Amino acid sequence: MTTTYHHTAAFNDLAALLTGQLFLPQDADYEQVRQLFNGRVKTQPAAIARCLTVQDVIHTIRWTRAQGLPLSVRGAGHEIFGRSLREDGVVIDLSQMKAIAIDPVARTAQIQSGVTAGELIGAAEKYGLATTTGTISSVGMTGLTLGGGYGPLTGAYGLAADNLLSAQVVTADGQLMTASGEKHPDLLWGLRGGGGNFGVIVSLEYRLHPLTKVLSGLLLYPLEQARTVFRNFNEFISTAPDELTVRSGFLQIPDGPTVLFLSPTYCGSLEMGEQAIAPLRTFGTVLVDQMQPVSYHELIHSSDAFTPKGRHYYLQTQSLKRLQTETIEALIEQGLPLPSPFSAINIHHFHGAASRVGVSETAFALRQDHLMVELIAAWEPQDDEQRYIQWAQNLSQALAPYAFKGGYINLLDEQEQERVRLAFGSNYERLLDLKQKYDPDDVFRSTIGHLALQHNN
Ligand SMILES: Cc1cc2nc3c(=O)[nH]c(=O)nc-3n(C[C@H](O)[C@H](O)[C@H](O)COP(=O)(O)OP(=O)(O)OC[C@H]3O[C@@H](n4cnc5c(N)ncnc54)[C@H](O)[C@@H]3O)c2cc1C
Repeated sequence: MTTTYHHTAAFNDLAALLTGQLFLPQDADYEQVRQLFNGRVKTQPAAIARCLTVQDVIHTIRWTRAQGLPLSVRGAGHEIFGRSLREDGVVIDLSQMKAIAIDPVARTAQIQSGVTAGELIGAAEKYGLATTTGTISSVGMTGLTLGGGYGPLTGAYGLAADNLLSAQVVTADGQLMTASGEKHPDLLWGLRGGGGNFGVIVSLEYRLHPLTKVLSGLLLYPLEQARTVFRNFNEFISTAPDELTVRSGFLQIPDGPTVLFLSPTYCGSLEMGEQAIAPLRTFGTVLVDQMQPVSYHELIHSSDAFTPKGRHYYLQTQSLKRLQTETIEALIEQGLPLPSPFSAINIHHFHGAASRVGVSETAFALRQDHLMVELIAAWEPQDDEQRYIQWAQNLSQALAPYAFKGGYINLLDEQEQERVRLAFGSNYERLLDLKQKYDPDDVFRSTIGHLALQHNN
């Protein structure tokens, strides 16, 4: 569908209100600005408003609503299904709002909403501080946090959302408000894992933790030993200390074989870390052992090369209580061979500090120890996508009987609305009330974890 709203003159009015630039489809750099991490997303918005100030955000919300156009919000653009763009809509593009202020005494970071994990950690590291991020440096902190935010420090410090102390939010009626423990605490509760339902976040404040080096890397095992390694791993994680969070899964070595990987990160003393990870080396024949002390900043940059922007991606997710025989069999029998050298099965480890947060303390509801599985299909643009999508969907279905109902909202497709409801569990009704309070007209409807109000359906 092509846009029906090419009244350049009307858009000139919006452009005149902005400090930042407005990009329209006829502009030479529109396509480059429009491009998301996932090259598969082809959605063509009518305009992209690159906001540089809070006032730009307020103007764009008010103007877009007055014109009756759909609105979407974009940070670093990593969400896989492209919800940050709407066909014929106006995009609030926050990717250039990148201010960061670290308070080393209070151990907090104040960031604007375009800041990525790598940028935040790079700034905090100068003070020997860090907080939970995802595994890849280029992912936006805002989107990550709004859905939860699993990463290598989850066992020690909880989810990214658990470290969110406050946020500045522009609501659907263009009001700027603070969500904190004192002001609008209900809104802060909702932002901690409740998706982008309630407004445009313009800045966030995080708790930081002392952290210099971590012990981290990859341990690679031959596929023939996958069953044994996974069985041992399953036993091992039931008693893993908080400081140790272990990602696992399958990947293909560039120009080499597909292997099972364990990727531990230990964030306490390096000596204790060596002891803690020692059993992992006995689970099978370790083909490659890359464990070493690295800065957290280096760690989250180490996988960047495997996930380039612009490739085509499709993803399915399931959250498993543990790796029981049936799920290990499904991963091996249906997951392998991986559909392409760039595809992977990536399993995040949720435990420790993240599991000790009560179900109703934040909007993020799955607080039992679990393993969040990402089935990542990736291919070059010229390939036929069907076989990749089918691979991820079939494997996801095979895992589903053993998984928690729902799933990780940051990775759920827009079509999976029922799973979003189940993911919020007993927090769902409270989230609907918040939606009714802060966005009754459902302006933020393309968001991750969309809460559909009855009267808007
Ligand atoms: C390569 C890759 C690695 C990943 N690794 C991890 C990982 O290790 N752990 C993990 O938990 N997740 C991971 N994810 C998932 C990631 O958390 C989500 O895709 C997240 O939505 C990305 O945030 P973003 O700001 O970059 O996304 P965007 O595409 O910019 O935004 C996604 C959505 O978030 C909302 N949003 C973003 N910014 C704002 C804002 N300022 N105000 C209101 N709403 C907003 C909007 O609904 C928007 O549509 C990964 C994704 C990719 C592609």
